[in-house]
Amino acid sequence: EQEVDEYRKGLAIRVSGFDVPKPIKLFEECGFSTALMGAITKQGYEKPTTIQCQALPIVLSGRDVIGIAKTGSGKTAAFVLPMIVHIMDQPELDKGEGPVGVICAPTRELAHQIYLEAKKFAKPYGIRVGAVYGGVSKLDQFKELKAGCEVVVATPGRLIDLLKMKALTMLRATYLVLDEADRMFDLGFEPQMRSIVGQIRPDRQTLLFSATMPYKVERLAREILSDPVRVTVGEVG
Ligand code: ADP
Ligand code: MG
Repeated sequence: EQEVDEYRKGLAIRVSGFDVPKPIKLFEECGFSTALMGAITKQGYEKPTTIQCQALPIVLSGRDVIGIAKTGSGKTAAFVLPMIVHIMDQPELDKGEGPVGVICAPTRELAHQIYLEAKKFAKPYGIRVGAVYGGVSKLDQFKELKAGCEVVVATPGRLIDLLKMKALTMLRATYLVLDEADRMFDLGFEPQMRSIVGQIRPDRQTLLFSATMPYKVERLAREILSDPVRVTVGEVG
């Protein structure tokens, strides 16, 4: 315990919440399958980044997480890797419809980056990842979603459009990520985020990542996360 505390202090890490799982130092401690470890190695990831060391065991334990860390700290893998495990844990994945994992990001560029990373880790398992953002034809997205996806990576506006068109349902969604939540607020996506969250069952696992935590983001987090663990890396304004 004390060792963990001192280690966190040295790296400007703050973690708060009840019964927080211990951080890891190596990917090998995560209990990932050989296929997932292979995909991690193939990506050139030798060791988890600071936020990954803290967040991976917590997310893998099924807890809700508020992750606060600056750009470039490796937040994507911190939510994508546990998402793959979460999806593979679904007992009857071949039944039902709609995504199990839903990831929202503020811009098409960010959504596209997450899409590419998610695809790399999903590929060994045959998990289908759908891209739901501008710059891709809506009709093509409609068809892709109709064919079936276990994961959608989306900008909030386009996801709402496709939900209205009944291209997908959220009936099966149990893993929700709001990435760069502060930027989604800046871009005026609060109503869309709330609408999306409102369509997903309340017993889902919810993860919220943000570079900053202004009051509005804090308030949303309080409303939509259950008993979250907060992980902060570095000094955050
Ligand atoms: P953030 O979302 O915090 O801005 P990203 O998830 O986009 O950060 O990661 C930033 C960069 O670091 C990406 O190029 C990513 O591939 C790389 N990266 C992530 N995790 C690791 C790791 N464990 N080892 C090496 N590189 C990593
Ligand atoms: Mg990111």
